[in-house]
Amino acid sequence: MMNRWLKQLRTGLTKTRTRIRDQLVLAFSGHLIDPEFWDELEEILIVADLHLDLAEAIVRETRRRTEQRLIKERTEVLPVLIEVLAERLEIAARPLHENPPGVYFFVGVNGTGKTTTIAKVAHRLQQRGHKVMLCAADTFRAAGIEQLQIWADRVGVPVIHHQAGADPAAVLYDALSAFQARGADFLLVDTAGRLHTKTNLMKELEKMGRVARRHLEDAPHETFLVLDATTGQNAVQQARVFREAVPVTGLILTKLDGTAKGGSVISIVDHLRLPVRYLGVGETPDDLLPFDPREFARALVGDPDEIITADSS
Ligand code: GDP
Repeated sequence: MMNRWLKQLRTGLTKTRTRIRDQLVLAFSGHLIDPEFWDELEEILIVADLHLDLAEAIVRETRRRTEQRLIKERTEVLPVLIEVLAERLEIAARPLHENPPGVYFFVGVNGTGKTTTIAKVAHRLQQRGHKVMLCAADTFRAAGIEQLQIWADRVGVPVIHHQAGADPAAVLYDALSAFQARGADFLLVDTAGRLHTKTNLMKELEKMGRVARRHLEDAPHETFLVLDATTGQNAVQQARVFREAVPVTGLILTKLDGTAKGGSVISIVDHLRLPVRYLGVGETPDDLLPFDPREFARALVGDPDEIITADSS
């Protein structure tokens, strides 16, 4: 029985899989492997939005293992491909900080889905029985603060905020005080959402880090960079700027459901060498999935059974 999140992951990647499905079925419909097969495979990966060098490297490695294992049938290559893709997504990182108390910073450009993501993570933690609070420290736009408030109400968590234009570190200070006074488990902090100059961003986030550590010495426990997976190369560019300003500990990639370019996740990880922690696959609080490299790779190219069945029908 497939569990709920696996189903959601598959559904979230439907557009990508549909886009490459016919080609996959075609590529796997012959029997014996021939040199063209490897070119077809590379093309499929490029269509799924892996960048060229990466697609080449993945096919090269898949081919090497296939030959080493004396595999002759095309259908037997798919599990090898899934294995190679999954390895590319496995970034050695310390385990996700999931035990209270936890202070999470969320960084990322407006429009990437940062607010929605914070609400989703709050919802997830609440469902696990934790007491969650939000902090509106992206104080640049009044609309942004309101938006966070709307989401907080929707998922039923309190949010600490000041007026627009307030010092983000001051909001954080108040939020941390309330967090500790109320004995809450997780504080999710919305931070600067515009790419002002790197030095400003760095100063703002450094100051917030100092404020956090004054309350809890190992805070922030996670700094998630929220990226819109549909923007590919642009997401990588944004990531570079944030990373230079703040020690990012993990990625959250949003809008996977809205794109046929699900392979961009692999490209993004390949460029940034940061672990993906969650995926956003829709607009409701439930549309957040924990990231599992192997399941992602399977959901991306499709289940071997599914493709082989399509081939024989
Ligand atoms: P922010 O400006 O970065 O805080 O972005 P928002 O959280 O306001 O999201 C921007 C838009 O993207 C909204 O319309 C969200 O509903 C939408 N959005 C966010 N995450 C996802 C996702 O995973 N899938 C889809 N389809 N839409 C999303």
